[in-house]
Amino acid sequence: MTLIPYDDRDGHIWLDGQLVPWRDAKVHVLSHGLHYGSGVFEGIRCYGGKSFKLREHAQRLIDGCAFMDMKLPYTVEEIIAACETVVKANNIVDGYLRPNAWRGPEQMGIAAQQTKIHMAVAAWAWPSYFPAEMRENGIKIMTTRWRRPPANAAPTHVKASGLYMICTLAKHEADANGCQDALMLDYRGRVAELCSANLFFVKNGELHTPDPDCFLNGITRQTVIELAKAEGIKVIERAIMPEELTEMDECFATGTAAEVTAIGQIDGRTYKVGPVTRLLREKYETLVRC
Ligand code: PMP
Repeated sequence: MTLIPYDDRDGHIWLDGQLVPWRDAKVHVLSHGLHYGSGVFEGIRCYGGKSFKLREHAQRLIDGCAFMDMKLPYTVEEIIAACETVVKANNIVDGYLRPNAWRGPEQMGIAAQQTKIHMAVAAWAWPSYFPAEMRENGIKIMTTRWRRPPANAAPTHVKASGLYMICTLAKHEADANGCQDALMLDYRGRVAELCSANLFFVKNGELHTPDPDCFLNGITRQTVIELAKAEGIKVIERAIMPEELTEMDECFATGTAAEVTAIGQIDGRTYKVGPVTRLLREKYETLVRC
């Protein structure tokens, strides 16, 4: 697959309050965010020109920055306006938005109180995270050796750039083993999530999902829980151990990029794409385009 580099595209990116030509949206090599991972980002999908759960994503970006001691100089309304401007300026119909906040180069070293907090929003057409056929029939995943750290060892509920280093390592491990994603256990050995999506299991018609006490409680996860409850499906949030996975009837992943993606295989064990997965996938696909 030939990739078009992300710095060499046509269009406009919102950077620190204004739209700039795509190729001019640059940062300095001594930016704190680049050296120390001091960044927070968002991923938002846009359907038919309308960004899904935009307010929730904007609020999560602000809350995440606040947790990281980064005072983002924008309000929810301003972030929403920036995202809408970018969608319009780039004529995005079905696409993905990437707001990103990071510490600048004003101060070098671990301490970063003097750095400026920068923000950018880019958007591009991005139809599906996994090929459509895989989303339909189920992706293949494997358990990675990388584990989610406890909440007192990392800002685990923030979409913090630095946390994604283990996700990249896990994803590379999955790729090298012919899988599309990796299942990460947490530091206690409980089932946690994928590299950038939450996990759900169906057992006897009920939905089981790990408690998000050391990983992101995804906006898609919360949406799918609401959809399931509206359909009268019982949702159980609890600790799930890897040994239990053999007893599950169906499983799927949720995320802004992944949407509702069926999982067809975990560590070589197969799962059918069953009625609950299909129903929730359909409900989600309808909701995002409302
Ligand atoms: N976990 C991780 C690590 C993620 O990166 C994502 C994607 N943002 C999710 C879960 C799912 O979150 P959401 O549904 O809010 O996109």
